[in-house]
Amino acid sequence: MNISNTHKRALLGLDRTQLKAELDAIGEKPFRAKQLWHWIYYQGVTDFSLMTTIARPLQEKLAEHFIVGRPGLSREQTSKDTSRKWLLNFDDGNEAETVFIPDDGRGALCLSSQVGCTLTCQFCHTGTQRLVRNLSAAEIVGQMMVARDSYGEWPSPRGERLLSNIVLMGMGEPLFNYDNVKKALQIIMDGEGISISKRRITLSTSGVVPMIRQCGADLGVNLAISLHAVSDELRDVIMPINKKYPLKELLQACREYPGSNNARRITFEYVMLKGINDSPSDARELVRLVKGVPAKFNLIPFNKWPGVEFDCSEALAMKRFSEILNDAGYSAPIRVPRGRDILAACGQLKSDSEREKLSRLKARREQGIEDDHHPNQGYS
Ligand code: SAH
Ligand code: SF4
Repeated sequence: MNISNTHKRALLGLDRTQLKAELDAIGEKPFRAKQLWHWIYYQGVTDFSLMTTIARPLQEKLAEHFIVGRPGLSREQTSKDTSRKWLLNFDDGNEAETVFIPDDGRGALCLSSQVGCTLTCQFCHTGTQRLVRNLSAAEIVGQMMVARDSYGEWPSPRGERLLSNIVLMGMGEPLFNYDNVKKALQIIMDGEGISISKRRITLSTSGVVPMIRQCGADLGVNLAISLHAVSDELRDVIMPINKKYPLKELLQACREYPGSNNARRITFEYVMLKGINDSPSDARELVRLVKGVPAKFNLIPFNKWPGVEFDCSEALAMKRFSEILNDAGYSAPIRVPRGRDILAACGQLKSDSEREKLSRLKARREQGIEDDHHPNQGYS
């Protein structure tokens, strides 16, 4: 079942006001929206005939006009290390990936916000994807629903839960699709439904400075910044968004981020690139840079993908880097990569349909047929 079809309206991804309007349009009272909300987001039910607090004639009427909706599932893969990846397809044939990383009975679900990404960070596989569009709120919430369906985690658990945390760290730049991300997160945080607290949600951005403040004010979720370089000179090259929003402005936005304090620190993600950004002096400069920000670090071993030129730093270099940050009083764990065998690790996501398209293009090229020019680098 897809998010919508030609005859029936999909309810997934609508906020409460929109849900009431849909019901009003078929002559039903606003309180029905609360009932539906409970069935859709708390019980996880997609079939109106299972909504037992609603009388049969109304169940039938709802089913005539609406579907609940789920993204289509192209593929589900589980890694040797138990992380899981779903390749989802949407009504227009586009695809996106969602990853779950279990950790001792709990875990983080990594949501995508766009198909591909308009930015072209040099170390990131997603940035080489040509097809790019924003995901709708329904498509973002839909990722959560598919993951919960997959683990059978319905109704929404009150206490301990496996799908305990959310990170906006999948494909795309969430702050370039802010309205839909905001709407989706508000649905996910709603206490009468999926009910994941803002303290368990982390939004990661490459540094879209003007939207950082807004995100803090509207949503108050945890913030992660993909920093990856300590000088504008290097960051301009490996993360071109830095030319628009340089380090000084980015760090200032972090200092001003509402709701961050020593108990709720901003995470700085730092991908360890051999010989590029991993020297002891880089680490010391990093300490200087984040002065005045309640900060912690995530050192991410670089994950290779076909055709990329960077290498991951040596273990010793990462250890020294981490120690310098620790000595300055910061938490700076070196992340253990998860799901590498199913290409689910950080920066490895890319729609499989895109991979297939690339191999078709390659085959055509080998036969001497020209393909059109594209602006992204990094295809192999
Ligand atoms: N666009 C957002 C959200 C994606 S988060 C952002 O950039 O923050 C994905 C994280 O993985 C980011 O910190 C990203 O910089 C990092 N990453 C990208 N490519 C990587 C790779 N090949 N190896 C390890 N981390 C990578
Ligand atoms: Fe986009 Fe983030 Fe990848 Fe950069 S690191 S290309 S912003 S997804």
